[in-house]
Amino acid sequence: MTRSPGTGLSKSRYCYGLQCPRQLWWRAHEPDAPELVAGPALQAVFDRGHRVGALARERFPGGILVDGDHRAVRERVERTRRAVAGGAPAIFEAAFVTGDLFVAVDVLERGRAGWTLAEVKSTLDVKAAHLPDVAVQLHALRACGLDVRRAEVMHLDRACRFPDLSNLFARDDVTAEAEALLPAIPDQLRALRAALAGPLPEAAIGDRCSDPYECPFLARCWPALPPHHVSTLYRIGRRAADLVAGGHQTIRDLPEDVALPAVAARQARSVRSGETVVEPGLAGALARLEPPVAFLDFETVMPAVPAWDGCHPYEQVAVQLSCHVAGPGGRLEHHEFLAEGPGDPRPAVAGAVVRACAGAGTVLAYNAAFERRCLEHLAAAVPARREALEEVARRLVDLLPIVRDHVYHPDFGGSFGLKSVVPALCPGLGYADLDIGEGGTASAVLEALLLDERSLAAEERARLRGQLLAYCERDTLAMVRLVERLRELAGRPGR
Ligand code: SF4
Repeated sequence: MTRSPGTGLSKSRYCYGLQCPRQLWWRAHEPDAPELVAGPALQAVFDRGHRVGALARERFPGGILVDGDHRAVRERVERTRRAVAGGAPAIFEAAFVTGDLFVAVDVLERGRAGWTLAEVKSTLDVKAAHLPDVAVQLHALRACGLDVRRAEVMHLDRACRFPDLSNLFARDDVTAEAEALLPAIPDQLRALRAALAGPLPEAAIGDRCSDPYECPFLARCWPALPPHHVSTLYRIGRRAADLVAGGHQTIRDLPEDVALPAVAARQARSVRSGETVVEPGLAGALARLEPPVAFLDFETVMPAVPAWDGCHPYEQVAVQLSCHVAGPGGRLEHHEFLAEGPGDPRPAVAGAVVRACAGAGTVLAYNAAFERRCLEHLAAAVPARREALEEVARRLVDLLPIVRDHVYHPDFGGSFGLKSVVPALCPGLGYADLDIGEGGTASAVLEALLLDERSLAAEERARLRGQLLAYCERDTLAMVRLVERLRELAGRPGR
């Protein structure tokens, strides 16, 4: 028996359907939709889930894995039946079918008094969204006659600290919460079945589109907003809905006397005039940068399973840096470092950042709280460099508030992220020409490169290293050009 892609229900389809039947319909009827193709960052999340799942299985000695083609349902159900009858202490990916509902249980553990089902999650806590997932498995297993007494979410334990991974997982009992959801499940399954069998269902857009997970079909359902929609006002939050209700769709529609916080008010002035607004204080803010200025940027990884001494799950670790140093007469020096292999990268990163920033009057970063955290973490992990790293942190200045508090260009779109600000103020300088153009992808690639290097051929590793170096270098070069442009603008404040 193989499953029809269009009609059958599974635990993931049940969860998608609870969030939105329209999303479920598209996922089931258009499994090859471009929105469902995982980019590098999402693929990294999937890969992490697989790695965490494999490690979870190691906690159950003697367990039997029911793997194989996910469409070969009958074969997997039969292998599960044999494992149950054969006395296996635990079964991984245990497969069950009741009616047209198929579930595969991450871990099914035999106990003296009945079975425990465990859903493995690579999160640090049990989340509300995990409970329907567990409940539908409990429903299916009990419908198949299995005596399941306990339901768990097995998640990563934030107390775990490398190299001791004995407490990598915490197992939380969610039996009562899952059982409370059971009575509603038959009607929910009927409704989802009907939705799948019919034409594309209607569904109102709203919170459901991002809760509990961001829907991949947002662009199909949400109307395109006009340029400078009021929701792009800086930090406007829920007040945007009030402005729309008051008849103001775009920033240009707003009356001049509408009260806005300072940054949003500057944004409105800029959008109305179509020109860059520059506050008189910009020159003074830039004058506080002490030459030579080191423009610093770190890239980090956050391995779910800690890999280096003292690290907890998802601890953020700097593994790459770029630093441009602007010396006298506009001379620009570039320093860079990118860790290699699975060893602890922190001593080498610490050394590289201390060398790169040696002699700098100001160390400038964009959204510098991130660089400060990286420096603090490095100082704690590499005591021999602590003082030098603390000295770098003392000279650290944040470029973002200098821009946010003094400049607005109509193309910022309400964002002061480097990737919004630089293309607007420095035309021709962006990230579109790079293979890696944003931090999430860089982090995913870095993690694969360092911790899963055996899965990559040597040429592929070299290619990815080149892309990562180009991306990080672009970030600090963008800061250099941005400061040059700000200095120009500071010479002619206005608007
Ligand atoms: S965007 Fe919203 S309404 Fe549309 S399918 Fe996704 S969750 Fe449903």
